[in-house]
Amino acid sequence: MKHVIIPFILMLSLWNCTVTKESEVTIDMTESEILAFHQSLLTLDTHVDTPLRLMYDAIDLGTHHDPHEYNSKLDFPRMDEGGLDAVFFAIWTPQGVRNDSGHQAIKQKALGMLDRVESQIAKHSEMAEIATHSSDAQRLQTQGRHAIYLGLENGYPIGTDLENIDLFYNRSIRYVTLCHMTNNEICDSSNDTTEFGGLSPFGLKAIERMNHLGMMVDISHTSDQTVAQAVAASQAPVIASHSCSQAMCDNLRNLNDSLLTLIADKGGVIQMCLLSDYITPDPPQDARDSARAALKSKWGNTKHLSDVQREQYRHERNSVNRNFPRVLPTVSDAVDHIDHMVKVVGIDHVGIGTDFDGGAALADCYDVSELPNVTRELVKRGYSKTDIAKIWSGNLLRVFAEVERVASILTQQDS
Ligand SMILES: [Zn+2]
Repeated sequence: MKHVIIPFILMLSLWNCTVTKESEVTIDMTESEILAFHQSLLTLDTHVDTPLRLMYDAIDLGTHHDPHEYNSKLDFPRMDEGGLDAVFFAIWTPQGVRNDSGHQAIKQKALGMLDRVESQIAKHSEMAEIATHSSDAQRLQTQGRHAIYLGLENGYPIGTDLENIDLFYNRSIRYVTLCHMTNNEICDSSNDTTEFGGLSPFGLKAIERMNHLGMMVDISHTSDQTVAQAVAASQAPVIASHSCSQAMCDNLRNLNDSLLTLIADKGGVIQMCLLSDYITPDPPQDARDSARAALKSKWGNTKHLSDVQREQYRHERNSVNRNFPRVLPTVSDAVDHIDHMVKVVGIDHVGIGTDFDGGAALADCYDVSELPNVTRELVKRGYSKTDIAKIWSGNLLRVFAEVERVASILTQQDS
C-alpha cells in the first residue's frame, strides 16, 4: 500500500488551502501546516459517552478500533491520531423510578461505571490519567498523556440527598448535567412536560452545593426555564457540555439565542455537539417513519419501563435506526452552528463537546480520529489561531478555573 499512501500524503502537504467562497476569507495555510497547528493545540472535548462502551461493549481504551466494525468512537490510539488531548467521560445513567429504591439502584450503577473507568485508566496509566483540576489538561499534555475528566450526565443518581453530590465529587466528577431526557428531582428536562417550572427547591440546593465544591453546572438537556433559573442561581458561570443552536436546527434539545446570551453574559460557555439530529433536521423517510410509529405504539411512554423493558426497547429502536440510516450532516454543517453562536455571543463563549459514543457521527468526522477536520473548517472560514485555541479548550478551561475560584471563596466564607 505504501506506493499509494505516500503520493497521497505528499499531495495533501502540497495542497495550498486557498478558499475563495464569497462567505469565507482567503487564507494561506498548507494542509500539513493545518495538521501541525491542530496537533499543537490543547484540545478538550467536554462530552463523550465512552464509559457506556467500556461497560457494554468491553472496549479496551489502549486498542485501536475500527468504528465501522466496533461500536466505538474513542480509544487512546485514535485520540492520538485525532490530536485530542483531553476529554470529559460522561457517567450517563438511564432514568427509572423516582423513589428511594430507584435512586439507590441507579447510584450503584453509576458507581460501578466509575469503577470500570478507573480500572481502564489505571491499566493504561502511561497514556492517561483521571484529571480533576482545570490545570491538569495542560500538565498532562506536556507529559504526552491524555487528561480524562469525568462528568455525571443526569442528576438522577443524586436522588434527593445532597451528600451524594459530595460522594460523586470525591469520585472525581467535575460537572453534573442536571437531567437527561426526562424530569428528575432536580429540574425539568427539555424533552419532558413541565413539572417544576424549571428547578425544583432541591435543585436550587444542589446547585449551591456544586458551587461550594467546585463542580460545573451543566445545563445541556434541561428545559428553557431550567437553563434561565440555573444561570441565575449559580454563583459561578455554567456550561452546556453538549448543545447546539436552535436557530440553526429546531430541536427541543438545542438552545435558542436568548439562552445562549444568558449563559454567555454570566461568563459561561456553550460546547457545540456533533449529534446529527441536533445539527440538521432529519429528512422524512416513509418506511423508517412507519417503523418508528410502530415502535411508539408498541412501547408507549418509555419513561415508566423497567430496566429489562428499556433494554429491549433500546435494542428495537437501535435496530430501526440501523435499518434506516440517516444521511449524516457534515463538519461544515456543524461549524455553521459555531459560526452562529460566535455571531450571537462572541468567540469567548463557544467550545466543543462531541457526544461521541453517545450517538454523534458526521459524514466527515465519524470518530475522534477525524477531529482535525473541524480545525481545518475553522481555518478555512477565517478563524484566527487564537480563536481556534479558545474554541478547542481555552474558553472551557477559563470557566472551569472560575468555578474552582468561586468554590475556594465560598469555602473560605464557610470557615
Ligand atoms: Zn446527552
